[in-house]
Amino acid sequence: MNLSWQTRAQSIAQMKAETFDILIIGGGITGAGLALDAAARGLKTALIEKRDFAAGTSSRSTKLIHGGLRYLEHYDFALVREGLRERTELLTLAPHLDDPLEFVIPIYADKRRNYDHPLLVRAGLFLYDLLAGKYNIGRHRRISQAEALQLAPQLDPRGLKGALVYYDGRTNDSRLVIEIIKTANERGAAIANYVRLVSFRKDVNGKVCGAQVTDELTRESFNVNARAVINATGVWMNEVRSLSADLSDDDKQLRPSKGIHLTVSAERLNVTTAWLIPAIGEKRFYFVVPWEGRVNIGTTDTDYHGDKDAPGAVQSEVTNILQAVNAYFPSAHLEPSDVISAWAGLRPLISSGNTKQATTAVSRKEEIFTDRDGLISLAGGKLTTYRLMAERGIDLAVEQLRDHFGVQAKPVSTKQIILSGGGIKRVDLEAHAHKIARAENVSIETARHLLHNYGTNAEHILALTHEDEALKQPLLADLPNIAAEVIYAVRAESALTIADVLTRRTRIAMLGAAMNCVEKVADLMARELGWSEEKKAQQIAAFRAEYEREYLIAR
Ligand SMILES: Cc1cc2nc3c(=O)[nH]c(=O)nc-3n(C[C@H](O)[C@H](O)[C@H](O)COP(=O)(O)OP(=O)(O)OC[C@H]3O[C@@H](n4cnc5c(N)ncnc54)[C@H](O)[C@@H]3O)c2cc1C
Repeated sequence: MNLSWQTRAQSIAQMKAETFDILIIGGGITGAGLALDAAARGLKTALIEKRDFAAGTSSRSTKLIHGGLRYLEHYDFALVREGLRERTELLTLAPHLDDPLEFVIPIYADKRRNYDHPLLVRAGLFLYDLLAGKYNIGRHRRISQAEALQLAPQLDPRGLKGALVYYDGRTNDSRLVIEIIKTANERGAAIANYVRLVSFRKDVNGKVCGAQVTDELTRESFNVNARAVINATGVWMNEVRSLSADLSDDDKQLRPSKGIHLTVSAERLNVTTAWLIPAIGEKRFYFVVPWEGRVNIGTTDTDYHGDKDAPGAVQSEVTNILQAVNAYFPSAHLEPSDVISAWAGLRPLISSGNTKQATTAVSRKEEIFTDRDGLISLAGGKLTTYRLMAERGIDLAVEQLRDHFGVQAKPVSTKQIILSGGGIKRVDLEAHAHKIARAENVSIETARHLLHNYGTNAEHILALTHEDEALKQPLLADLPNIAAEVIYAVRAESALTIADVLTRRTRIAMLGAAMNCVEKVADLMARELGWSEEKKAQQIAAFRAEYEREYLIAR
C-alpha cells in the first residue's frame, strides 16, 4: 500500500467520520512506533503530525543504534541492556537501514587526551559486552598504534599508544521513522502529516475523548473521536498536556537539551570507522561517524530555551567542535568553511526540577504516565528503544480501553514485524546491488544507495524508471540519488513539500547539496502534485528559508 496525498485525504475523511480506539499525537519515532504497535494489535488507530514525519528531533539525532556506553557511568545498567537488545532487534527488523559499525577510542600517553583512564574505559567496554550477552554484535578489542593510524591516517600519531575498538549500530533516523509509518499504515492505521492538534475534546466525566485538529494545508478544522489519546510530542509534551490540564504543580518538568552536529566531506576528514574523541580537559566526547558518504560530528548537550520548531547551530558551538576534532585529526585542519551543514536536535529530557544538575546527568530513560483526564504521555528515551517504549505505551492504553470500553487487543509483538523494505538480509545487500546495477543500467553507487535507503522497495523506485527512463537521471553529480526517488517520496511516502523530499525522505539537505537540485526537485513535485508556477516558487522560497534556518550556521 502507498502513502500519498490521496491516502492522506482518505485518512482525514476517516478521522472525521469514525471513532478510533487510539489517537496518537506526534509523528516522530515515538508516535510512529506507537501507531505500528497499536495497529498490529488490531486496534483502530489514527496518528496526526503537525509538520512532517520526523521533522522534530527524530531527523536530528546522531543516528546511532546503541546501548549508550556513557550511561554506564551513571550505573544505568538496565537502560544500557535494553538499548543493546533493541539494537539487535532493529538490525533484524530493518536490515537495509541499520548496520553494525566499529567504534574506535584512541589512547594517548597524555592523559588529558583520554576520556578516562584506559583501564577504566576497557572495563566499561567489558561490561558493555557482558550486558549485551547473546545480543552482542562483536566483542571489544585493543589495537596497536599502527592499526589505529591505518583506520584514520589523519589521526595525531604523537603520543598515540593504540586504541580500543567496540561495536554499535548506525541508522538513518528519518528514513527509519517513515518505514515504521508505512508499516503502520499497511496494517490499517489512518495517518496524516501536516495535521495539528489544537485542543482536546472531553466527555461528561472530564475524560479526554478526542481532539480538535487543523489541517495545516487547507486550514480546515475538524474533530477526531478516540477512546484513548496518546501524546508523543517529544519536547512539545507539556505544551500539549497544558491544552488539557493545569500543570502548575506538575512534577514532570520537561527540560529540552540541545545537541548540534556538523557534517563535513569524507575527503576532508578521512575515516572509515566511527571514532569517539574526548573534548580535551572536559568530561565529554564527540562522535565522528561516517554516514551516507560524508562524516557527521557531534554532539553537544546544553539547556535550550529558544524556538523549539527551529533550533539551530551557532558559530561558537561549531568552533568548539572543530577545535576538538582538529586536536585529534590535526592534518585535517578543519575550518568553518568545511562545514557543509550544521543541525540541532532537542532531547526531550524529563527532570525532577533540579536545574543545577547538568543535562548530561539527566536520565535517558523514558517516562510514560497518565494524567487525571486519561491523557497518556510518553517522552524521553532514545531512537534505539522506540519499539519497547511503544509496547509499554500501548500496554497502558490497552488497560484503559479494556477497563472503560471492554475493547480487547490481539497479543501481537512488533518483534515479529519486519519494517517496510526490510525483507532482505544484510549479507545479501551487496550481491543484490551488483545485480541491480547490471540489470537496470545504473551505477553501483546508485544501486547500493537505493538498497540501503529503501530495501526491497527499491524495486518500486526502479519500476518508475521503466515507465519513464528520464527518472534514472541523477539529481546531483556527486550523490547517488536519482529523480525517481522524488516521485516515490510523493506517491508512496506522503512527501508534500520540498523539505519533506530533500530533508527527510532523502537526506540531501543534511549532505549539503540541497540548493544545487532544489529547482529539479520542485519541477518533479509540481508535475506530481499539480503545482502552478506561483505555488512552485512559493515552495522553493519556503524550502530555502527552512534550510537556511535549520541547516546553516546561525551568524
Ligand atoms: C542531538 C541528539 C542526538 C541523539 N542521538 C541519538 C542516537 O544516536 N541514538 C538514539 O537512540 N537516540 C538519540 N537521540 C534521542 C532521540 O533522537 C529522541 O529520543 C527521539 O528522536 C525523540 O523522538 P520523539 O518522537 O519522542 O520526538 P520528536 O521526533 O520530536 O517527535 C515529536 C513530534 O510531535 C510533533 N508535534 C508537536 N506538537 C504537535 C501538535 N500540537 N500536533 C501534532 N503534532 C505535534 C512534532 O512536530 C514532532 O514531529 C538523540 C537526541 C538528540 C537531541
